[in-house]
Amino acid sequence: MTPIHGVLFDWGDTLFAPPDAAKVIADVAGERGFAVSSERARAIWEELWALGKTPAELAKGRDLSAEAHRTVWTSLFRTADAHIPGIGRALYERVMDPVAWLPYPDTAPTLKALRDRRVKVAIVSNVPRDLSDVFRGHGLAGYVDAFVHSFQVGAEKPDPRIFLAACERIGTAPAATLMVGDHAIADGGATAAGLRFLLLPPHEGHGVRGLDRVLAVVDAAAAV
Ligand SMILES: [Mg+2]
Repeated sequence: MTPIHGVLFDWGDTLFAPPDAAKVIADVAGERGFAVSSERARAIWEELWALGKTPAELAKGRDLSAEAHRTVWTSLFRTADAHIPGIGRALYERVMDPVAWLPYPDTAPTLKALRDRRVKVAIVSNVPRDLSDVFRGHGLAGYVDAFVHSFQVGAEKPDPRIFLAACERIGTAPAATLMVGDHAIADGGATAAGLRFLLLPPHEGHGVRGLDRVLAVVDAAAAV
């Protein structure tokens, strides 16, 4: 097996966890005089988030500009206005801002371990804004060799072009590069570009993400 010289990471739900959107829903409902149980709030959010990951939503080009991002996500979130009036807009503002997302407990140790192994790291994200300040804010920017954002490349995952652009930025051959992400279609597009791919299982909350799998794959490839 070819050794892995570079690892590309998805950002959302892979290295960073979203704010507790169910809590945001319950809070906004309360502010508007509606009582919504935490179970109900969670069910509303899970339905919206799952909808947001469908191929139909992914095809809307929402990560090619800040304006498209706001329009596409807000119109999706507004479907929940039927439950709680005005919730759609509040969700966009309080949940979708990357500054409100937090790294998992194993994000920094994993990035550091890759740096120690001299493996290059890039963030490859479908996102309408620069994420480098978000990484800097958590002391993680020093572990990242390149940020490859869809809005700058002009292509969104699963388009092979964004993965190839990332390989070029960190100077690794696609066959020696591993893409890591939580979305089988979007992140899995890396395989069509000739990269290797590690799909992380779905994950709830802010606990340990299980990124030790990445190091296991890198070490296994180096050992053969
Ligand atoms: Mg993701």
